[in-house]
Amino acid sequence: MGEPELCARRRFTPLDAAHDDTGPPTATSPYAIVAPRHKGRTVNLMEYQGKELFRSLGIPTTPRGELATSPGEAQTHAANFGVPVMVKAQVLAGGRGKAGGVKYCEDADEARARAEDILGLDISGHTVEKVLIEPASDIAEEYYLSILLDRSSKGYKVIASVEGGVEIEEVNRTRPERVLKEDIDPTVGIDRDRAKGILTQANFPDDVIDAGADLLVALHQGFVTSDATLFEVNPLIKKTDGRVIALDSKVTIDNNALFRHEDLAAQSEEEADSPLEARAKEEGLQYVKLDGDVGVLGNGAGLVMATLDVVNQAGGQPANFLDVGGGADAEKMTESLSLVLSDERVRSVLINIFGGITRGDEVANGILAALDNLGEIPQKLVVRLDGTNAEEGRAILDDADHPSIVTADTMVAGAEKAVELAAQA
Ligand code: ADP
Ligand code: MG
Repeated sequence: MGEPELCARRRFTPLDAAHDDTGPPTATSPYAIVAPRHKGRTVNLMEYQGKELFRSLGIPTTPRGELATSPGEAQTHAANFGVPVMVKAQVLAGGRGKAGGVKYCEDADEARARAEDILGLDISGHTVEKVLIEPASDIAEEYYLSILLDRSSKGYKVIASVEGGVEIEEVNRTRPERVLKEDIDPTVGIDRDRAKGILTQANFPDDVIDAGADLLVALHQGFVTSDATLFEVNPLIKKTDGRVIALDSKVTIDNNALFRHEDLAAQSEEEADSPLEARAKEEGLQYVKLDGDVGVLGNGAGLVMATLDVVNQAGGQPANFLDVGGGADAEKMTESLSLVLSDERVRSVLINIFGGITRGDEVANGILAALDNLGEIPQKLVVRLDGTNAEEGRAILDDADHPSIVTADTMVAGAEKAVELAAQA
């Protein structure tokens, strides 16, 4: 998985206020994801889906548009609207406007031409496969409004700014006084008075407060009923006729609540996984590809996380996170090892198993059987066994005297050995 993809997938985290540990891992922080990613997916909605959700929740937004996957279709839709339209790239990436993925068109011919430009465009590593054609709104002013789950305060946070249509992170960096961050107690929520107070405090113009407050109340209500972790409206606009609507939408639904939102789960287009991640998903393994060269394999998410840390401390770079889960039998070991070893960058592998229900002798036999199945491999496996029947397991490995296996007594010693072997390979 390359860097741009990671960045793109992290776009749903406005400001560092959002300690969203459901997000994907990054090379520097691979751990955050583990527990919540059981389903192996992040449910982000595209703009058109988010707006459709807004409509169903009574959040004022743009008139419904039409999707087009070809310039001809775009032209037809624009002709049917018979008014100036926007042609908008539908990809799960922010900053589409800046990247040339959002264009105003006077008429159907122009819509065709712009759709031709935009379809196939690469926006932060995402290829545009469809565009939304929607009637252009007459914008008087653009603002920013979002509500998100803030794990650090165990509540929600509303972020509001009169500087909309630009990246809020940028505004927050350069003009933090222009960004209001307001903690919301989930047991209290947001009523109309609170909403008015928030917008007033954020310096929204007087003529926007009433309509804006209604929208914020609906946004909060919808956020809660959707089990969302983020509803972001950037820009929220005042139209020339005075109405206040959401012109763009970014919606992220809490993975853990997906069972309550089958409809949304089905709609969400899965971000493309790396081939190895897709394979791991099929095999029911918790695998996250990272950027280093030391393959890491352990049982239990916590132990694997700790192992990644120790590899880092030993001066190495983990190539992946892989939790084999319980019962590391031969079949599972073969699957896991072959997965880790299919990553061309892997130069050594650290297997760190803490026996509980899984017994050390079983694991040892599993590793040997896996090596039998895999045949000769260029990388060395450093194995550290602890817990139930660890001694028996180590004895089995020592007896086998396999050329690919090096045993280690502690996690630190194992990590150091694996890092050293990776450097030599
Ligand atoms: P992104 O955030 O990915 O750049 P937006 O949907 O926010 O995409 O669009 C970028 C800009 O394009 C908006 O700030 C707005 O100025 C303009 N825009 C987008 N949709 C419309 C629309 N329906 N009518 C008029 N202008 C629009
Ligand atoms: Mg936007």
